[in-house]
Amino acid sequence: MQLKSLHVFLKNGLIGYYSKDEIDAFFYRLCDAHLKLKRIDVSLKSDTVVSPQTFEYFEESLQRLLKYEPIQYIIGSTSFCGLDFIVDEKVLIPRPETEELIGWILEQIDSSKPIKILDIGTGSGCIAICLAKKLPNAEVYAMDVSSGALSIAKLNAKANQVEVTFIEASVLDWKNQDLVVDVIVSNPPYVRESEKEMMSPNVLDHEPHLALFVENNNPLLFYKAIIDICKINLKKDGFIYFEINEYLAEDTKSLFSLDAFGTVQLKTDIFSKNRMIRAKRC
Ligand code: GLN
Repeated sequence: MQLKSLHVFLKNGLIGYYSKDEIDAFFYRLCDAHLKLKRIDVSLKSDTVVSPQTFEYFEESLQRLLKYEPIQYIIGSTSFCGLDFIVDEKVLIPRPETEELIGWILEQIDSSKPIKILDIGTGSGCIAICLAKKLPNAEVYAMDVSSGALSIAKLNAKANQVEVTFIEASVLDWKNQDLVVDVIVSNPPYVRESEKEMMSPNVLDHEPHLALFVENNNPLLFYKAIIDICKINLKKDGFIYFEINEYLAEDTKSLFSLDAFGTVQLKTDIFSKNRMIRAKRC
């Protein structure tokens, strides 16, 4: 079978499930991942005959796409802040809104100075690793309750050639009097069970619920626990940065008590949704 026929094979199998543009995008991503061919090369080499293994790879990918498995899990990686990250079902796929959170943090930090950063609920390690990469003088710590997620995060730190100290612990019972940092950052689970119906099957059926969902009656559980951690582990004048649930922005803001925190600022993402908050420890 020729490369161009493989494209038609994927189109015929996925039509009705995805738009034509999405199918084309999948085809080019699969070619890039499996054949190391960029889009331009795929067009130039469309008459090339593909091996039976390549056909099998596309056939298997097609079956997974029919189950709405995210393309990032199928190819096993994604790009985030210009870096490549290994991803599988143990970790959430890094989102563009989290890139915005990192941008906000970097705006404020003087990269020439030594700084200590703790990322809570690191998942794939995307926040911790991007910060370590962009801030060569930073000492970065990253915590997660999931040993599976940490195994992926460690691979990502190695692949991106950065040093991160990983801590396997639950934020709900982690206690450490010795680690005092300049910045704490977290993108904890914040989607309420009641919001599930608005979510698409590629997220709902494949991404780790542990990293996404919180109970309707206590949706800010992780924010409260992290704010308590800040009272012990965040330096005076240090900053806490959170990614937040757009529908709970004011409730999240009100968790910061005035005796322990100074300026508290909400920030919108590119879709004008309240998506980030930061506060200064005082
Ligand atoms: N932004 C993610 C989503 O909407 C959720 C991330 C999280 O729960 N921390 O799928």
